[in-house]
Amino acid sequence: MSKLRFRVVETAFKKRPVDVPVPAERPSEYFAKYVFNRDKMFRYLSSKVYAQLVDVIDNGATLDRAIADEVAAGMKKWAIELGATHYTHWFHPLTEGTAEKHDSFIEHDGKGGVMEEFTGKLLAQQEPDASSFPSGGIRNTFEARGYSAWDPSSPAFIIDDTLCIPTIFISYTGEALDYKAPLLKALRAVDKAAVAVCHYFNPDVKKVVAFLGWEQEYFLVDEGLYAARPDLLMTGRTLMGHDSAKNQQLEDHYFGAIPTRVAQFMKELEIESLKLGVPVKTRHNEVAPNQFELAPIYEECNLAVDHNMLVMGLMRKIARRHGFRLLLHEKPFKGINGSGKHNNWSLGTDTGIGLMSPGKTPEENLRFITFVVNTLMGVYKHNGLIKASISSATNAHRLGANEAPPAIISSFLGKQLSAVLDKIEASDTDDLVSIKGKHGLKLDIPQIPELMIDNTDRNRTSPFAFTGNRFEFRAVGSEANCASAMIALNAAVAEQLSLFHKEVDELIQQGVEKYAAILRIVRKYIKLSKPIHFDGNGYSDEWKEEAQKRGLDCETSVPVIFDNYLNPESIAMFEATGIMTEVELHARNEVKWEMYTKKIQIEARVLGDLAMNHIVPVATQYQTDLVDNVYKMKDLFPAEKAAKLSAQNLELIEEIADRTGYIKEHVDAMVEARKKANVIECEREKAIAYHDIIVPMMEEIRYHIDKLELIVDNEMWTLPKYRELLFIR
Ligand code: ADP
Ligand code: MG
Repeated sequence: MSKLRFRVVETAFKKRPVDVPVPAERPSEYFAKYVFNRDKMFRYLSSKVYAQLVDVIDNGATLDRAIADEVAAGMKKWAIELGATHYTHWFHPLTEGTAEKHDSFIEHDGKGGVMEEFTGKLLAQQEPDASSFPSGGIRNTFEARGYSAWDPSSPAFIIDDTLCIPTIFISYTGEALDYKAPLLKALRAVDKAAVAVCHYFNPDVKKVVAFLGWEQEYFLVDEGLYAARPDLLMTGRTLMGHDSAKNQQLEDHYFGAIPTRVAQFMKELEIESLKLGVPVKTRHNEVAPNQFELAPIYEECNLAVDHNMLVMGLMRKIARRHGFRLLLHEKPFKGINGSGKHNNWSLGTDTGIGLMSPGKTPEENLRFITFVVNTLMGVYKHNGLIKASISSATNAHRLGANEAPPAIISSFLGKQLSAVLDKIEASDTDDLVSIKGKHGLKLDIPQIPELMIDNTDRNRTSPFAFTGNRFEFRAVGSEANCASAMIALNAAVAEQLSLFHKEVDELIQQGVEKYAAILRIVRKYIKLSKPIHFDGNGYSDEWKEEAQKRGLDCETSVPVIFDNYLNPESIAMFEATGIMTEVELHARNEVKWEMYTKKIQIEARVLGDLAMNHIVPVATQYQTDLVDNVYKMKDLFPAEKAAKLSAQNLELIEEIADRTGYIKEHVDAMVEARKKANVIECEREKAIAYHDIIVPMMEEIRYHIDKLELIVDNEMWTLPKYRELLFIR
């Protein structure tokens, strides 16, 4: 019965690493070979158009449609030289993947032949018939059109034979149907608000950029084993499977030697990423067996988000060339670590200042404290929303589990920064500032030690940790689009910085000295945002209790967590910062609830099928063998002795009967429960029903399946086991 399983295991064991052709040039030479970056723009555009385009990119100047034609012509020339035959608008719909529809450059030439053509119009805007992308009801099907519009701030690139143009995706009536449109708005909002605050310290600052450095975790599974697991194939995670006797207890995988087959995969992935301009830098084994991580150097947030989407696609493709399948699911295996995507976030100015880095002078340190404290305040005020921004059906398995951050947003600051904030809080208002001499100021800002920049006492349990020159948002899911988290975070900080600016200005108008005014408001925020600051163990039960007392959002049901997008504070914030309207927020929540339901629905179906056509038949077959043995014992031995010898088998027969009976009954009940849930009209209520009723049923069914896996003859078991999925590479 289980011939297939043994065959795939054997084949997987025998696989040899795949050879990767290594370019003759050095990485610095082939870096961004397939990217229409400034260097290419300079070479393929006139100097006038180049200057205009750079102005659009750097200063957000409006794009003159007249230059689009020349940009398109330059892009086309460059792309065709590299063998491209097609182009596509590349965007991030609300499905968490990317979307693209490829058109070839070919047009009639009017003489019976064809020619390659690519105009400014095609570059700037398209109308993909996108009625089947989720829109939460914004676009009714009779208004099926959506626009994709060029985002010049993220450079075009070539994959295989296709020129890909990063675009936003909006509805006919202008609402965002993607992640990029609101992200760009959030980045603009934080830029504007932060520049105003920077001007207290340095009037030369013209622009503030949000930076993002993501760290992508993932699992690799041999493709043969993967194909023999319909649950992995269809849902991205194992819906059943008993713990392997050995998993990560010995902690022998983290930073261990990378297995050769995997190393070859990583090598190819890095080469391809570099060619696409992604500055990949770090690779290592993660804590769980067969789990790994890849991280590039941080970049401007919009570009970093695009690069992450690009890399996730590359990883999938390249994994297959190496006989692997990539698992980006946040929790592919129960009982061992899940995968996240740490989002390292900071703000920096066009004058080269890291706003989350301590400086050398008191003013610089006051600026640093100002930005840190405003970030804490924004995250505190919107902690529920920020949690919602990383919540999904899949990430729910990870939050709160081993090594994952808890489902409560809090911020770790470390000893040194905490001490600095405490001192500011305890000190007395205006005595802190006195004006002295030319450089003016003596600020009683506590000395901030240099070593803070290389903050070592990191707290791995904190979902939002300060790590020396940035905050590390660790609750983001491995398969998520980083944009979701980055929209919420930058929006919250933008709103907060504007408010800060307003409060400080009011004090200044009342005659309070500038730095004294800043300090007063900073002190007030330190006090107000206290509940979000937590340096202890985020995995402990005491923290859950404490967080509840502090009034932090402790909700664990994902469909209910999504409500945070629609609370009055969130709507006010998104509208005030110009990032999203209430209509958009409602529509996007419809999509979130619908996606949640669909994911659980698919899982429940797959689990039901596997339970009934893989597990129960195999268990019953084994049970029949046992029954057979019991009868044969009776023939061989006197009754009393036979009974004694068969005692254990009789127990097993009974256990199998109990468990298979339970499984059958509950699979039926689950089907009935789904039918009931499916007729609920309201997407929110439906998602809640799936969360409250279906998810626990799946857990129950799984429990019995996993118990059967332990007793049924290994030779009969059809599905590859955890020990095979996790240790073969
Ligand atoms: P760790 O695993 O210890 O958290 P890594 O070195 O793997 O650290 O990843 C750190 C990430 O943070 C990298 O992507 C790095 O480029 C990024 N990073 C470093 N400094 C900043 C910063 N100021 N702003 C944003 N990201 C940063
Ligand atoms: Mg990290």
